[in-house]
Amino acid sequence: MRISEHPILDFDRGREIEFEFDGKRLVGFEGETIAAALHAAEVRVLRRSIKLDRPRGFFCAIGRCSSCLMTVDDVPNVMTCVTPLRAGMKVETQSGKGTIAPEGARLATGDAASEAIPSAVPLAIVGAGPAGLSAAIYAGRLGVESVVIDENDVPGGQLIKQTHMFFGSLDHYARVRGIDIGERLVQDLESCPARLLTGTTVLGLYDDGDAKALSLLKDGQHARLRARAVILATGASENVLAFENCDLPGVYGAGAVQTLMNVYGVAPGERVLMVGAGNIGLIVSYQLLQAGVRVEAVIDAMDEIGGYHVHAAKIRRMGVPILTSHTILRADGETRVESATIARVDERWAPVPGSERTLDVDTVCLAVGLTPNCELALMAGADGVYVAELGGHVARHDRDLETNVPGVFIAGDASGIEEASTAMLEGRLAGLAAAERLVPDADANALASLRQEAEDGLGELRAGPFGERPRFGKNRMFDLVNDTKDERRGS
Ligand SMILES: Cc1cc2nc3c(=O)[nH]c(=O)nc-3n(C[C@H](O)[C@H](O)[C@H](O)COP(=O)(O)OP(=O)(O)OC[C@H]3O[C@@H](n4cnc5c(N)ncnc54)[C@H](O)[C@@H]3O)c2cc1C
Repeated sequence: MRISEHPILDFDRGREIEFEFDGKRLVGFEGETIAAALHAAEVRVLRRSIKLDRPRGFFCAIGRCSSCLMTVDDVPNVMTCVTPLRAGMKVETQSGKGTIAPEGARLATGDAASEAIPSAVPLAIVGAGPAGLSAAIYAGRLGVESVVIDENDVPGGQLIKQTHMFFGSLDHYARVRGIDIGERLVQDLESCPARLLTGTTVLGLYDDGDAKALSLLKDGQHARLRARAVILATGASENVLAFENCDLPGVYGAGAVQTLMNVYGVAPGERVLMVGAGNIGLIVSYQLLQAGVRVEAVIDAMDEIGGYHVHAAKIRRMGVPILTSHTILRADGETRVESATIARVDERWAPVPGSERTLDVDTVCLAVGLTPNCELALMAGADGVYVAELGGHVARHDRDLETNVPGVFIAGDASGIEEASTAMLEGRLAGLAAAERLVPDADANALASLRQEAEDGLGELRAGPFGERPRFGKNRMFDLVNDTKDERRGS
């Protein structure tokens, strides 16, 4: 269902276009993805799974999982949650692995006059979220030329769907909406020696003599970019929760629900069960209510609410119960969610027999944490270490955000799950450290004062009870790096 009225957003939907879905004519809008257009047309089953032929809908909306793979214009395995809809497209539900594309089949994605990709640049930055954009702006302040690459057509990373006002201090954009912070960063980038390359995926990162080589995919064409330093600001992916029928269409990650509602103006369903009472679960619940969607309950296995109490109070005032010490047991439905069963859990998180309740919901939204996207760093040779407080496996990095591979930096959620405000400061630090490496005669005083400013900001944001977890995680990481340096010195 398309959202027609919203207290904050105006949906500028672009030109109406026709496309074909399993032999039927459907209408969508230019600028939205295939999956969003199908969702608005009430289509939930996008593919059938390989082994058990189970129905699958879309889950992540950021091109990270394989739930939305369909056959488009005879090309199999197209990620429809990130592929823009074009007039006249032939979209088909895919069974299993799909069949090989006939000769000459090609997916028309980008514009014909697509931008040329440069062959070399001093600094390549992967990800145009708050971390990547800040890195380019701060490296640019020291005169370093960069290319910022993002797989999405619109820069901003997760900020493009965050309609709420940020918390924290005014220095860190408090009381500014996420969507506006993204736009401000893009504006700041315009005065820098930086180039944005959107709609471009970085597939690999390799050694290339005294530099690095990135393999890129844009509009179906592969290209290679050589860079002397690389900053990976690739963000994070949403976690899944294992319960019966957790793969049923209608079970989404919280970020996917935000993308559907706030970017494309499409409601995920009519009645939602939110799993997770951290900040993301609470904020997305509020945004669902703003979009006119009913939230039946927010549940969390923890015995207390993990997010800010001001967010919890807001949704409680709007009549949404928040049930702590509760979990989801299963979702039910033929081809999409028709109900969900929850239960109370004891202190060991085991369901309490007899406490089961079935809720009449058509959507289950999972807000159960994020995992850093550090694959490119690992591919480049960075050591992977497990730090639970940073979200799981992360690439080993020092205080300058440099990994153990010289010249490869990692910043923002990709280096450990935190917030956009810390992502911007980490981006700044990584940009400055890369600039120091690339411009040996850079103004040392300017560099030191910019670095101090970013470090102070990070210290401030990581102080206090909500910053305890990442602070602990980062300290563990830096201790690990020091231990390794000591070991190397000793050997
Ligand atoms: C509901 C919600 C509410 C939030 N509220 C707040 C808040 O109030 N305050 C706050 O500070 N933070 C908040 N956050 C957290 C914040 O959004 C993230 O911490 C922040 O966006 C991380 O920034 P980033 O630049 O590291 O990554 P992202 O914003 O995720 O950007 C990474 C970008 O890299 C791109 N990318 C990844 N891999 C590749 C590749 N191989 N090739 C090309 N491109 C690639 C991605 O598509 C993406 O655009 C919230 C998050 C959510 C989901």
